[in-house]
Amino acid sequence: MQEKKQSDLAVLLGYTGSYKALTFLGLGLSAIAMVLGMLPYICIWLVARDLIAVAPNWTQATGIARYGWMAFAFAVAGIVVYFAALMCTHLAAFRTASNIRKQGMAHLMKAPLGYFDNNASGLLRNRLDGAASETETLLAHNLADIVGTVAMVLVMVVLMFVFDWRMGAACLLAAVASVLAMFAMMGGKNAKLMAEYQAAQDTMSKAGTEYVRGIPVVKVFQQTVYSFRAFRQAIEDYSAKAEHYQADVCKVPQALNLTFTEGAFIFLVPVALLIAPAAIGNGSFAQFVTNFVFYAVFSAIVSTALAKIMFAASGMMLASTALGRIEQDMRAPTMEITKSPIAPKGNSVVFRDVCFTYEGADVPALDHVSFSVEPGQTVALVGPSGGGKTTAASLIPRFWDVTSGCVEVGGVDVRQTDPHALMEQVAFVFQNTHLFKTSILENVRAARPGATREQVLAALSAAQCDDILEKLPNGVDTLIGTDGTYLSGGEQQRVALARAILKDAPIVVLDEATAFADPENEALIQQALRKLTEGRTVIMIAHRLSTVLGADKIVVLDEGRKVEEGTHDELLRHGDLYARMWEDYNRAVKWKISADGEATQTDREVK
Ligand code: ADP
Ligand code: MG
Repeated sequence: MQEKKQSDLAVLLGYTGSYKALTFLGLGLSAIAMVLGMLPYICIWLVARDLIAVAPNWTQATGIARYGWMAFAFAVAGIVVYFAALMCTHLAAFRTASNIRKQGMAHLMKAPLGYFDNNASGLLRNRLDGAASETETLLAHNLADIVGTVAMVLVMVVLMFVFDWRMGAACLLAAVASVLAMFAMMGGKNAKLMAEYQAAQDTMSKAGTEYVRGIPVVKVFQQTVYSFRAFRQAIEDYSAKAEHYQADVCKVPQALNLTFTEGAFIFLVPVALLIAPAAIGNGSFAQFVTNFVFYAVFSAIVSTALAKIMFAASGMMLASTALGRIEQDMRAPTMEITKSPIAPKGNSVVFRDVCFTYEGADVPALDHVSFSVEPGQTVALVGPSGGGKTTAASLIPRFWDVTSGCVEVGGVDVRQTDPHALMEQVAFVFQNTHLFKTSILENVRAARPGATREQVLAALSAAQCDDILEKLPNGVDTLIGTDGTYLSGGEQQRVALARAILKDAPIVVLDEATAFADPENEALIQQALRKLTEGRTVIMIAHRLSTVLGADKIVVLDEGRKVEEGTHDELLRHGDLYARMWEDYNRAVKWKISADGEATQTDREVK
């Protein structure tokens, strides 16, 4: 555990960058402040010593006022220096947190786009932003306190043994007992319990999130909270662990710890009573009393120091988990960006023996897949759900990079091209369209920021969005996602097509572009698709096999492998998977028609 803490600290100091020196200055000042803060106690002791020496002729004690002023001066100096120390550490801490955010963002910018599919953006933001601010407390306060307290303890240990080692040892004994009690609570097998307790807390909060997400389902099926067995189990687990941890593990050590921390004189008094007779015997009683006063005053500092260390230790633990979360982001895979990009020649797309396995998956999502799309051709990817169609499509704009083999655009491996140029060359419409909370105009313009209003309107019109614009209160300037202005799935899909049309890229990737289409939408979407795909290289995934009829080539993917390739007619003659799918599809369509042309979703099964 000790080693881990040190490495955490090293990691954190690494982020301080050019503010490392300031951090150390702050820590040094904090140590000085702590030592200054101890000096008034010594002054008080000096006063006591003088008084004892002249007792009972109090008026002969001349140095008392001087010591009083000195005590005051040291106290003030201690506060001022501590303030300066905190200024330094705060400045460094804020800079460090901002460095962490910047470096984290810079790193995430290099992650493949697919990474953001698997890691919700809210979670990422929370992880980076929240964790960065959590390190602030550690750097700004805890670390300064730890260094200061260590300095204080060192001085204390020396002073303890200067006057009377027996009474010094008695004071230290209390401190040691208190620290031992604390370790009994946190170390050894209890560390495992502590970890279990924290894991239970984690599980509970995750189950809670899951529960909130599932509320609609729960309500629809008329269930109660008790049906969320996982959540209930997590709460019960946590409460059992928490109870066990505090009753069986913490109760006694915590009581002992507090007793010894607050009652640091607990051993001092008996020891003093033991050695008092000897002091009286050899005539050094006055000195004995003086020393006793010193230790009595000093034992008060022991508890302060220990309390500070405890706080600092918990700050350390918090920061350690925060750093863990930051490291998680910093470990996000990055996409290699070539230093000498090659410009693609033309608009062909070729998959050469491509294998791809998602992180953590056992089986490849794509397994030695090869096919080619000539410039201007339309190639359809079909196959059962989970066959790898979406995965293949997302490799083209480098949402992910292949595990082996290569994807070529215009004869160049996509990893050898400039990512920006690649993005310019490929437009994609995916199943889950994300519309920003802004006007439709800006939503479409996002595809080509320089586009004029007229160009955007033309793209919307080409994408058959005119009826949407007519319906909306402010037409193209209507804000989406506010005041109850939402678009249906099919309408969103058409806006997404408008984006792709505006982008005017020579290669178009469409993933299940008709998936949301209801009967009224479908014809419009088909029309928009025709506009979008005219004269371009198209890779399309569609579960309505009617849309792939006109494709130049159909590639059938099943369980990550290419099982067939050819035109519609060729594949039908082949009489294998595609032929079966086609048969199923037709049966579904016929069934739909015989049901009086009513909209049914049976054709989904073909997917
Ligand atoms: P299709 O589009 O043909 O339905 P996909 O390409 O979406 O198939 O999925 C292929 C395989 O990869 C499936 O087994 C799926 O579970 C897996 N998969 C898809 N997306 C991810 C992801 N983001 N992370 C891990 N596995 C994934
Ligand atoms: Mg898919």
